Amino acid sequence: MHFLIIGAGINGLTTARALLNLGHSVQVFEAARELREIGAGVVLGANAMRALEQLGLYEAVHAYTQPVKGLRLLDQQGRPLQVADTGPFTRKLGFDNIGIHRANLQKALLSELPPDVVNLGKPFVRFEEHDSQVTVHFADGSTATGDALLAADGIRSQVRLQLLPNSQPRYAGYTCWRAVTDAASLGLPPGNSTEIWGTQGRRFGYVPLVDGRVYWFACVNTATPSDPAFKNLSKANVQQLFADLPHPAPALLAHTPAEAYLWGDIIDIKPIRHFAYGRVLLLGDAAHATTPNLGQGAGQAVEDAAVLASCLRKHPTLTAAFRDFEQRRRPRTTRIVQTSWFLGWASQIKNPFIYKLRNTVMRLLPAAVAQWQMAFLYEADD
Ligand SMILES: Cc1cc2nc3c(=O)[nH]c(=O)nc-3n(C[C@H](O)[C@H](O)[C@H](O)COP(=O)(O)OP(=O)(O)OC[C@H]3O[C@@H](n4cnc5c(N)ncnc54)[C@H](O)[C@@H]3O)c2cc1C
Repeated sequence: MHFLIIGAGINGLTTARALLNLGHSVQVFEAARELREIGAGVVLGANAMRALEQLGLYEAVHAYTQPVKGLRLLDQQGRPLQVADTGPFTRKLGFDNIGIHRANLQKALLSELPPDVVNLGKPFVRFEEHDSQVTVHFADGSTATGDALLAADGIRSQVRLQLLPNSQPRYAGYTCWRAVTDAASLGLPPGNSTEIWGTQGRRFGYVPLVDGRVYWFACVNTATPSDPAFKNLSKANVQQLFADLPHPAPALLAHTPAEAYLWGDIIDIKPIRHFAYGRVLLLGDAAHATTPNLGQGAGQAVEDAAVLASCLRKHPTLTAAFRDFEQRRRPRTTRIVQTSWFLGWASQIKNPFIYKLRNTVMRLLPAAVAQWQMAFLYEADD
């Protein structure tokens, strides 16, 4: 079979390797002219590390990873709201949750592909199906034809929008700055991801990466998407917004060069009913983009590749494999999108009375119950 993949992001590169492992031929078409250092950090759950192992990609990625053993949630004063030890889940799966710079993840995945697989500077425009084939058209006027089209073109997927014009990204109600910075001098203990759920709808989180680097994010509520009030804030303005949060939030913001600050609204895709459309399949963020509150977006993009490989091994026809993929992936990814949406709402609560009530409930909630609620993330689909 000859597969056309649109997008050389986390899913596109992982899926390409998965298909080559099965003996198929693959071409990946990426809009960007070069794969530059874009994005900040991501957490990959043990479930995703396990999927990478199944695809023979674990070693390449592992070199860039820092284990994340648990999650600490703190209030405005830095007092614990909840401390979750993910050890019981990760030990069962046999892999750690890890933190990694997105650019390193992309570099590692790319290094595992033959050089002629990825075609850069090829923005996809539209596709059509004919005679058991799919032809895609690119912005430069060129075309490519294959047995199937895999849409790995991210949250604003043009392939999805051709199929479902109304499936526009959904704004979550908060906007976010994020960066990766060298914070070795701050001496933050490795091993924990930490979130501070502050007052006035503000949240700050950080995850230690390798080589003393730290990935942080800082979110604030606003009803207006792409709010002009936040768009042009300087580093000093952002520091001021989060100045009264406990250590190390102000220190990390101060430590980060202004040019490393990335800003963007938090968005997802309201769960859609189908991923499979004949010979066309939606994957990764194109199919099920989630808000980042569970740290599962990239992880689910990786899991998709492993499950697709399993479906293609099992079924004699493409369309049957794609339908099986949809059946196996929709319930899990929908649950993640919905749980993450709710968690985002809970973490960004602004009303002072509800803020206090939420914190009291969280302190009273036994750690075992909180952990049990997250157990589904570590259920692997074999
Ligand atoms: C603030 C934030 C924090 C996050 N934190 C985490 C986290 O901790 N853990 C986690 O697992 N995930 C996290 N994510 C999500 C994660 O980055 C994505 O879920 C993941 O990158 C999805 O992979 P993908 O391959 O589907 O899409 P992407 O990685 O976005 O790749 C899509 C690719 O398609 C290309 N493309 C787009 N349009 C076209 C076109 N028309 N033609 C050709 N190519 C095109 C793009 O250039 C890109 O290379 C976070 C996201 C955000 C915004």
